[in-house]
This record gives sequence, C-alpha cells and structure tokens, in this order.
Amino acid sequence: MSRVYNFSAGPAVLPEEVLKEAAEEMLDYRGSGMSVMEMSHRSKAFETIINEAEADLRELMNIPENYKVLFLQGGASQQFAMIPMNLMKNRSADYIITGQWAKKAAQEAEKYGKVHRVASSADKVFSYIPDCSDLPISDDADYVYICENNTIYGTKYKKLPNTKGKTLVADVSSCFLSEPIDVEKYGVIYGGVQKNIGPAGVVIVIIREDLITEDVLEGTPTMLTYKVHADANSLYNTPPAYGIYICGKVFKWIKSMGGLSAMKERNEKKAKLLYDFLDNSKLFKGTVEKEDRSLMNVPFVTGDESLDAKFIKEAKEAGLENLKGHRSVGGMRASIYNAMPYEGVEALVTFMKKFEEENL
Ligand SMILES: *Cc1c(COP(=O)(O)O)cnc(C)c1O
Repeated sequence: MSRVYNFSAGPAVLPEEVLKEAAEEMLDYRGSGMSVMEMSHRSKAFETIINEAEADLRELMNIPENYKVLFLQGGASQQFAMIPMNLMKNRSADYIITGQWAKKAAQEAEKYGKVHRVASSADKVFSYIPDCSDLPISDDADYVYICENNTIYGTKYKKLPNTKGKTLVADVSSCFLSEPIDVEKYGVIYGGVQKNIGPAGVVIVIIREDLITEDVLEGTPTMLTYKVHADANSLYNTPPAYGIYICGKVFKWIKSMGGLSAMKERNEKKAKLLYDFLDNSKLFKGTVEKEDRSLMNVPFVTGDESLDAKFIKEAKEAGLENLKGHRSVGGMRASIYNAMPYEGVEALVTFMKKFEEENL
C-alpha cells in the first residue's frame, strides 16, 4: 500500500486512523454481522452512531442547547436554496460576495427574493476580504450571508462582519472544525463535509431554534424544510448513513487530537511553513492579501503558466497530488485541511525548494 500526500480541495484527505478503523469494521460492524452501509437507519446500532456523532460535534464546537444539528444531503449547494426558502420572511437578504460560492448562493437566493450585494472583492479577483465593519445592511434583511473560507481563492474572514443585529448565515464548508468558533454569533452555520470532515454526501447544518419554523416560502418541498428534519432528528427519511458514520469517527479523531484549539494550533503551524516559504521564494508567489489568508486553502503561482503545469506534473510524480489550482484561478492550490499531516506540508515545501533551484 502506498498513500500519496493529497492536496485536493474536496473531496479531500481523511485521517488515516479513521480509514483504517472503517476498513476493520467494513464487513462486521462491532458484532452486528453487517457493514454500516447495509444497516437499517432505524436500527439501535445506527441510532447510537448518529446520536454519538451529534454529541461529539456539540462538545467539539461547544454548541448551545438552543441550536439544532442537522445531518442532511444535497451538498452545500442545496443550502443555497434551502436558506432563502426557510429564512426569507421579508423576501430580502444581504450577501457579501467573496468568491464563486458566495456568488452562486446569491444567484440562487435571487429566485426567492431581493438580494442586496452589500460588499464584494470581485474587483481584485477575490484576493481579499472586504472591510465589513460598517456595511449598508438592509433594514428589512432577513439575514446576512457570508462564505467564511473561500476554498477557491484562499481567503478567510478573520473577523465576522458587523451585521447590525441581523442574523448571520455562514457557509463554512472548507473551514469546518479547523479552529474554535463562537456558535452564538451565527444564526446558521453549514457546510458540506467533503472538505474537512468526511465523505461527500453529507451536509451539516447548525441552526438556532427560533429560525426553524413552519412559516417557509410557499411551495417549499418537504425535504427542503428545516423543521421537518429538526423534528425527526435528521431521520425523516433515509439519511446518508455511512457518511454520518465516518463523520462521527472524524469527530472522535479530532477529540483525541485535543479538540479545536489543538486543531487550530496544528493548522497554523502547517500554514506558516508554506506561507513563510512563499513569502521568501524567488519563483513562487501567494495570490492572497496576507491578513486574509486561509489556513486551509493556499493558492500560489509562478507567473508562468507552462512552469505551473511543469510543477504540477513533477509534483504528482513525487507523490504530491491534486495541486492544480481551480480552473477559474489557474496556478496551484494546496489544500491543507485538518487531516493533512505536518509532514505532508514539509514534503511539499522541500519539493518546491528543489523545483525553484532547478527552474530559476
Ligand atoms: C465545495 C464548496 C461548496 C459546494 O459544495 P457541494 O457540496 O459540492 O455543493 C460550497 N461552498 C464552499 C465554501 C465550498 O468549498
């Protein structure tokens, strides 16, 4: 067996310990004689799996009692519609546009109501986070929407926007569980798990209870109503059972590593290694404003497209995979999520040094 260092933006690297455990339990989950994949979602064994997953997530994030945790499907993209359908009582919302995902979410919300784009960093290819301390928040806005970590461009909010009392909704797909956060500052926190937590197919929604109502937009499908899933503890219909099981294992892995503060420390150490190298390199350049840099996604370029292509090819041959940047940005991107070990980033930086010497 030989595993590569996988810098994919998503689906992405998972902790090896988790994969090994899942492999051991594949044919016979703890004496049940079957795989979790083959198990009824109404069984005692699965009930324990989902309840433990929720309890561990609540503990890790310190989620207050008045927030529900939902395990849903449809990916982060389905939330682009589900959020306005459930939250747009006045049919008005403010969106801060810091990249493709926020842009797509705003476009989707426009199907249901008025969308005000109160700030954007499109003028500089989304290479920074706009100043959000005094935005023209709409008086009737049902919520203010952000994408907290911009997977494609490699920016991250270091300070949450001043929403002037309005509900904050955040897509945290690519920074989920990467550091401690204060859940109470948000109305809704959601993310697809395939970036930092588990396999594709699960989206986790953490939502304040007063935002879960029957008063949704007319025509909202049953399956897209938060209340339906909240009332059924995410078991209204068959949930993405195997995915939830793996997420649960990742939560336990994070706990064993020391929780979110330890994760943050580890992530900062990894990111520093790479950013310090980029800041001193004569060949490679980071593409993001220093103060807005993401701990998770690190885009960089050489400034020469053919050299970028050569780098990606040779890196792959050296066991460093998926370093190609998003098609909309070009260049390279190293995604260094929770499960990427420090040694992986070290191997990348060592390879970059060698490439620089050979190609400068
Ligand atoms: C990947 C990603 C999405 C889209 O996720 P899907 O699960 O594919 O719909 C949305 N937002 C962010 C920040 C992402 O990184």
